[in-house]
Amino acid sequence: QRGRLSHIKNTPAVTLDGERIELLANIEQPADTVPALSVSAVGVGLFRTEFLFMGRDGKLPDEAEQYQAYRAAVEGMHGLPVTIRTVDVGADKPLDRSTRDDHLNPALGLRAIRWSLAEPAMFLTQLRAILRAAAHGKVNLLLPLVAHRHEILQVKDMLAKARQQLDLRGEVYGPVRLGAMIEVPAAALTVPMFLRHFDFLSIGTNDLIQYTLAIDRVDESVSHLYDPLHPAVLQLVAGTIAECRAQGKSVSVCGEMAGDPAMTRLLLGLGLRSFSMHPSQILAVKQQILRADTRKLRSWAQEVVASEDPAGHMTG
Ligand code: PEP
Ligand code: MG
Repeated sequence: QRGRLSHIKNTPAVTLDGERIELLANIEQPADTVPALSVSAVGVGLFRTEFLFMGRDGKLPDEAEQYQAYRAAVEGMHGLPVTIRTVDVGADKPLDRSTRDDHLNPALGLRAIRWSLAEPAMFLTQLRAILRAAAHGKVNLLLPLVAHRHEILQVKDMLAKARQQLDLRGEVYGPVRLGAMIEVPAAALTVPMFLRHFDFLSIGTNDLIQYTLAIDRVDESVSHLYDPLHPAVLQLVAGTIAECRAQGKSVSVCGEMAGDPAMTRLLLGLGLRSFSMHPSQILAVKQQILRADTRKLRSWAQEVVASEDPAGHMTG
């Protein structure tokens, strides 16, 4: 499919009515910057740093190893922005094979930012490594699964402490923009609070769907109920985008929804102008963008969100 679409690889992602759309890549390791650039991604919208932490029997990567990896990704993008997400382990991404069954409801347990805040030495190490990588290019620091104000304040304290530690060592580091993922309904319902504390937001639809619909995203027995087009999910996504736009803050979607060409027109109609996805999806989504007129999609998208049967409305 990528071969079939390679003729639009260098075409700017601009809609028929002249709206410029940012197409970013989701990556899991520094080498993934190569496929990202090969489809002309204009940055990395989500660097899942878990790969550094998982499958090593709980032995965590030290600051030097992490710094090398983050720096390699930053340098691999040649000056384009790289959004590095702090480690998101737990639930469907266990640190090692033995941990998933430790808890009855791992998706509701100590995962992502919760685990980071419970392991301050580990978290400070990762923050220092990211700050140091930021000396080599544009870095955005993204926090997964944030839901509480006190988590935000705690992270900001930890960031100040990480900078202090680097100062004491005389280490070089760079500035970062700070952002949060909106992937818990509680976060989607308190976007104005998030916007007071963060420079940008990124909607993680994979988890937002899981938590809104109470569907374990890795449980096959309920996968038929995992529905990106459920009106509740759409309302949370639409509301988040609208609040960010109203306040002039950048917002992107980095869950699977962003990489599904069947969703592109809807997200454009809701005002989304930044999409982050697996590199293999970028050209198919761009093809939809090149054919779209956002002026004509706006009222239709509102109707889809307000409908009791959005899927039935999508073809209209
Ligand atoms: C998401 O939840 O949509 C997301 C992008 O994060 P992950 O899939 O890594 O949980
Ligand atoms: Mg997630």
